[in-house]
Amino acid sequence: GTKRLYLGIDFGTSGARYVIIDSKGTIHSEKKRPYPQKSIGDTINWTSSWRETLFLLLGDIPTESRPYIASISIDGTSATTLIINSSSGETLSRAFLYNESFPDALPFVKSIAPENHTVCSSSSTLCKLVSWWNSRKSDKDSAALMHQSDWLLWLLHGKIGVTDYNNALKVGYDPESDSYPSWLLSQPFSHLLPSVKAPGMPIGYLKEDIISQFGFSKDCHVCTGTTDSIAAFLAARATQPGKAVTSLGSTLAVKLLSTSRIEDARFGVYSHRLDDKWLVGGASNTGGAVLRQIFTDHQLEVLSRQIDPSVPSPLDYYPLPANGERFPVSDPSMMPRLHPRPESNVEYLQGILESIARIEAKGYSLLKELGATEVDEVFTSGGGARNAAWTKIRGRVLGLPVHQAMHTEAAYGAALLALKGVGLSC
Ligand code: ADP
Repeated sequence: GTKRLYLGIDFGTSGARYVIIDSKGTIHSEKKRPYPQKSIGDTINWTSSWRETLFLLLGDIPTESRPYIASISIDGTSATTLIINSSSGETLSRAFLYNESFPDALPFVKSIAPENHTVCSSSSTLCKLVSWWNSRKSDKDSAALMHQSDWLLWLLHGKIGVTDYNNALKVGYDPESDSYPSWLLSQPFSHLLPSVKAPGMPIGYLKEDIISQFGFSKDCHVCTGTTDSIAAFLAARATQPGKAVTSLGSTLAVKLLSTSRIEDARFGVYSHRLDDKWLVGGASNTGGAVLRQIFTDHQLEVLSRQIDPSVPSPLDYYPLPANGERFPVSDPSMMPRLHPRPESNVEYLQGILESIARIEAKGYSLLKELGATEVDEVFTSGGGARNAAWTKIRGRVLGLPVHQAMHTEAAYGAALLALKGVGLSC
């Protein structure tokens, strides 16, 4: 048959990456680029930087692959927001970044949203929108809100006003009823809200000028995206309820595919929709940051090789880089516990790794208590995933099969969404 390829692009916190896969999920090419620092005065011009990076990455794609690309999807950082003119596409705001806080909008947002709603955080998309709306004098009637990935996809397909329900969660979209709630639709700024599709749904074809500039096919579909952390989960291909991905980076984050939706603000637990399932997640403050306070990455490797993972450690710690824990125990003043320290560094490290594994196990049991599908298999991503001794320890402590995820790049997850956009899965 004809060769068909699928392009995923990830716009993460530090740079952007593209991955091209075939229908079996095999990677054909990939490349990462850092964001160029473009500034206007002393603020960084992010939109210009992202646009330049997008087109550099398209130019990085091998010329001979381009005509075979059947679909494209892009993920971006969650709650990164832009306001643009809904007919010209001209930006009416600077880019509000995922972690930027707008406390000025919070009292109003809290007054319209249900208690503990995801939008009730000063960095939510809705706080960004409200803050812009309240400070802006002109162009309010013709404005449209876009998430970072919507905007990048728009550069490719040219249709304003489409997003996905993963990105839209933090502006207040209700993925369960698949609609904006009435408390949001009754606001004077509701005309800025984009229409919402599932992630990985075709929006349109590539614009003519892009087809001719790069030599893409005129049949290439541009599909809705998702957030970077969901794309990273999709990359691991944990596609059945009960499959989970633990990320062992600076912090420990768990994500589990569930048939039921769960939310609990006390533990910072919430669910994203993925078609007919829910992606539930929680994040602990424990993780690799604590290991780095004590050991170098080289020491971690050398010491870990000397651990016998089949022999349980008697040491019981609660490793935290600073005071405070949210999940699986909600205690803002919890103190790290890393004593007694044995003389042997091997024993000390094993005690820490095993204690982190118990926190992970407790995390998955908490999700079950809150009503999620019980976990039956765990894939692992992040710096801790390559530690074979730790993987064995976690398997024993969790009582489950635990493996390193084959793919962990968000761009790979975005490529899977592109594949989905043309009705395929792998
Ligand atoms: P992030 O992107 O969250 O900063 P990474 O996924 O890059 O984190 O992982 C970095 C973390 O992995 C560090 O905090 C480090 O302590 C941990 N790490 C690195 N090597 C190992 C190892 N061999 N065993 C366990 N943890 C490791």
